[in-house]
Amino acid sequence: MDKGGMFLRRQLAAVGILAWFIFMMGAGCADRSTQPQEYIREDFVMNTLIQVRVFAAEAESGQKAGQEVLDEFTRIDHLTDRFAEKNLSDPEISDVYRINQNAGIRPVPVSKDTLTMLERGSYFSTMCSGAFDVTVGPLMNLWGFGQAQYHVPSTEELKSGLELVGYQQVVVDKTRKTVFLPEKGMEIDLGGIAKGYATDKAVQKLRQMGIESALINAGGSVYALGSKPDGEPWLVGIQDPRDEKNLVACLRIKDTAVVTSGDYERYFTRDGVCYHHILDPATGQPARSIMSSTIVAPSAADADVLSTALFVLGSGPGMELVNKISATDAVLVDDLGNITFSEGLSNQIKFTGGGGYTLQNGEVGGDS
Ligand code: ADP
Ligand code: MG
Repeated sequence: MDKGGMFLRRQLAAVGILAWFIFMMGAGCADRSTQPQEYIREDFVMNTLIQVRVFAAEAESGQKAGQEVLDEFTRIDHLTDRFAEKNLSDPEISDVYRINQNAGIRPVPVSKDTLTMLERGSYFSTMCSGAFDVTVGPLMNLWGFGQAQYHVPSTEELKSGLELVGYQQVVVDKTRKTVFLPEKGMEIDLGGIAKGYATDKAVQKLRQMGIESALINAGGSVYALGSKPDGEPWLVGIQDPRDEKNLVACLRIKDTAVVTSGDYERYFTRDGVCYHHILDPATGQPARSIMSSTIVAPSAADADVLSTALFVLGSGPGMELVNKISATDAVLVDDLGNITFSEGLSNQIKFTGGGGYTLQNGEVGGDS
């Protein structure tokens, strides 16, 4: 594995440990004789450590539920993987790989899940004037993200890459269930929604199985199903973007997703400059005005899209957007170290005060 890949793995492990710590804080000291038992599963899928905690009355259903969650992540990964180096006639080849290979050639039949992700992405792209754009594939390739072969593109390279970007050009035929990219070289990249979408699908499975209490953490994409077995809300932390061992805030949530996009999640350094993986589709460059963007929403897919969108939009326009969307909130840490959060979180967020950040909304602490 190259240096970037190793670094990423180490970072993910650190995020995992931090998340685990928060899980433990959240679990409390339940009386095992009266409470459902806890079943834990984890695996490395979608380049990310997926961790699941399920509470169930019986071992069989607890273990099965944990496995179902991991299976959902694997299933969505197989639909969205951009780099499936397989033969095109292989039925297992990912939808996204086939769409991209057939750019400028023909429409490609895809699964209902892929259509839904593209439609949801497009809905929000319109809302945020293209700050979120699933056609950033050519730009991601220019920077070498995804395959960890990093490169700083020249102005000319970026210019030609940008000509291939435009979510409005994606032709989705809902009746025929096909997707078509009209120009050769265009590429779909669902990296900004796939984890959130897989989280929602996994939660759906858990509910169908009768699970009432669970926590899924997909490397920064968290969903809390129900409350903790003791009836209290789950506690989920927001990582300090410049110190992976610390938190800037804790949130009390139930039946809610908390998704964070950060400039520290995937990046490389050249000549002392840090280049990360969330690109501004208007310039082709990494977006610079935010360090971390956290969205709290009922759907993890929506939260995933919006965390990326707000990262690109920046604090002012980002908060303006989130305030228009019902049941959806945000916590933004900008490049100057200012923290802004939306009003809806006032009673459920507690800031640690660590890291020297400046809270723009004044002092706030939940009653936890
Ligand atoms: P992570 O996947 O690390 O949790 P995000 O949810 O913010 O972080 O998604 C970043 C990923 O989304 C990138 O790795 C890339 O695949 C894709 N992406 C990057 N910039 C954009 C953008 N402006 N719009 C849509 N997708 C993007
Ligand atoms: Mg995202």
